[in-house]
Amino acid sequence: MTLPAEMATDAEDRFQFTCQPGMACFTRCCANLNLVLTPYDIVRLKRTLGISAEAFLDRFTQASSDGTCGLPVVRLRMDPDTGRCPFVSADGCTVYADRPGACRLYPLGQALKEVGGHLQRRYFAIRESYCLGWNQGRVWRVADWLADQGLEAYQQMNLPFLRLSTGRPLIAFKNFGQRQLQMYFMACYNLDAFRQFVAGSSLKRRFALNDELCQRLQEDDETLLYFAGRWLEFALFGTGVLPQSLSQVLPAPEVEVTDR
Ligand code: SF4
Ligand code: SF4
Repeated sequence: MTLPAEMATDAEDRFQFTCQPGMACFTRCCANLNLVLTPYDIVRLKRTLGISAEAFLDRFTQASSDGTCGLPVVRLRMDPDTGRCPFVSADGCTVYADRPGACRLYPLGQALKEVGGHLQRRYFAIRESYCLGWNQGRVWRVADWLADQGLEAYQQMNLPFLRLSTGRPLIAFKNFGQRQLQMYFMACYNLDAFRQFVAGSSLKRRFALNDELCQRLQEDDETLLYFAGRWLEFALFGTGVLPQSLSQVLPAPEVEVTDR
């Protein structure tokens, strides 16, 4: 069974797809992309490239505002001459092990909505006319594709950020000034700057963060990123609770995500 384009589907649906070097379309999909990067995408990419978040943002991205809520959005900048992704080569993706979540999910896309306090993901097929992978090779359950492409960590790490904007009325963003937007940008995308901010702030004293957590926030990107999402929710919307110890940070999201 194959999925019609743009048809919402769930984790149990199936599609037939294969993608491998040697196909006539190999890397055609790595050009002219409107590829929005998530906070965890940037952590993985800056780390594999061995550069700071700031250097990554300067060299490889362009920032804009979300047309609906006005929050900052970061996109991967395509090569201005060729339109190609800066990480594609004749042999394929040069950052494959740390490629963005959207590249992992492709040829599927996802849509999120909030239903009764839960985030619900739906998946849909993206059928580009040049992509020869459809209706070839293995038949995948959507859930097996997600697992095969290593998406679980991405979905987990981005969850606190998805909770910031999904299902929240637009009025909640209306009064954000420059200071809040800069704070949002730093905590989402410039994790090294956020680390310095945490180290130099009174957060530890004001919120009774324990020593173990503070040490991990300085050493571990994933812990810091999860904390950043929680901190933003607290600082921008006055909701949620800031973790005070490591055991409150990982692994448990408070809002369950259902793949339906
Ligand atoms: S166009 Fe489709 S089949 Fe070809 S490389 Fe990209 S994803 Fe794979
Ligand atoms: S990051 Fe890799 S998989 Fe994604 S578009 Fe660039 S080259 Fe292609």
